[in-house]
Amino acid sequence: MNQLINEWIDAHTQELLDDIKRLCSIPSVKGEAEEGKPYGDGPYRSLNLALKIAEQYGFSTRNYENYVGAADYDPSLPRCLDILAHTDVVPAGEGWTVTEPFEIIQKDGRLYGRGTSDDKGPLLCALYAMRALKETGVQLKKGVRLIMGADEECGSSDIRYYYGIEPEAEMTFSPDGDFPLINIEKGMFHGTISKTIKEDTTLPRILSLDAGLVINAVPQKAILRFEGLDLTSTEVENAMNEIQELCQVTCQITGKDEITVVGVSAHASTPEMGRNAGLAAILLAAKLPLSPSEALSYLMKITELFPYGVTDGSGIGIKMSDAESHDLTCTLDLFHMDPISMEFKFDSRTPIMANEENCQNAAIQVIEAAGFDCVDFSMIPPHVVPADSPFIKTLLKSYETVTGLKGECLTTGGGTYVHNIKNGVAFGALMPGIDTNMHGADEFFDIDNIVLATKIFAEAIQNLCM
Ligand SMILES: [Zn+2]
Repeated sequence: MNQLINEWIDAHTQELLDDIKRLCSIPSVKGEAEEGKPYGDGPYRSLNLALKIAEQYGFSTRNYENYVGAADYDPSLPRCLDILAHTDVVPAGEGWTVTEPFEIIQKDGRLYGRGTSDDKGPLLCALYAMRALKETGVQLKKGVRLIMGADEECGSSDIRYYYGIEPEAEMTFSPDGDFPLINIEKGMFHGTISKTIKEDTTLPRILSLDAGLVINAVPQKAILRFEGLDLTSTEVENAMNEIQELCQVTCQITGKDEITVVGVSAHASTPEMGRNAGLAAILLAAKLPLSPSEALSYLMKITELFPYGVTDGSGIGIKMSDAESHDLTCTLDLFHMDPISMEFKFDSRTPIMANEENCQNAAIQVIEAAGFDCVDFSMIPPHVVPADSPFIKTLLKSYETVTGLKGECLTTGGGTYVHNIKNGVAFGALMPGIDTNMHGADEFFDIDNIVLATKIFAEAIQNLCM
């Protein structure tokens, strides 16, 4: 471990924190595409600020038409290691208590704000690791490039664009996960469940239900609208109290004919950490004095396929687990219903053993038997990099050298950036066992973690590129 480099990092920690604050203050949530801004204005500004920061520290940069940016340690070296991070974020959501999502604050040894730990903070840790090596005069023999994407959270079309132009490096790591290292990413299974219904105008009735912002997050908020229902009645009050108790969510009257249910969001790879507001809203609708209707009965069927609090896929017949990659997870994340139609989207993360037969076909059978249509069902295979490769061994050794902790390979349900990159793994930037509320309210990044991650990256780059 290089003392000089670590001293440099310690001496530049506040500067690093200030850069993270600056980058995270841009709400880089995907927006409408505009001329020259493929993901809208926020991601455009965020990417360009990251490039500006890299340039300011003497790295040569390239902007790939605002899809992706890149910063090279030394463009004259043969490119050998890519570090893949992203400058976009998921929507702010609600329920922030420590600060506003894009007003980044430093408090109790942490930075709080959207993007601090996913993934702008880790991106800047990697950049500062490169900067530390550069400014302490380390002569690498092989090149390292920081690739900065602008669309990781909405399907990673950014890096598909990038790899349409550039080849994959021999080795790629992405600081968009946990330490020590993730070499297995579960597969993904997504689908849309829809139903056309005959409008029933008998009052009181439910007019609409909407919940969820993105497919890869448990919905935090659901909005129910009614017609002809007296929301001030004791029956409604009792039903709301019951659901609050049962589901540990809050139910509030938010308009003349409107009830809002607020639960807890969580990433779709760890749905057990969330409280699904959409499902809780359906359970609430079941308890309200509404006239029976086809719409209502199909809503009920949804809570049989996706029971509240059950996230193992058992409701749609796909519960499974294997030794290497563990349990399948499944969560219903997007909800829309109106008087004539309903549509729901689920996100399942599948172990290595999952295949079309035991997963996709099995689910379709159960869902169709319940009377729904299955649209756009698709599976993405898992990603596995062998744990005994020299690349992985070097990364783990670098982690052990800096932290003194044991390095070992992990499995995740989160599809990280390297899902389609042959020799790509997720490496940091979060220390094990810490939930930083990424994708939820009060996202944070511990300053100790920021410093450690930067040192680990510097060590790893040196070990891999000398
Ligand atoms: Zn991320």
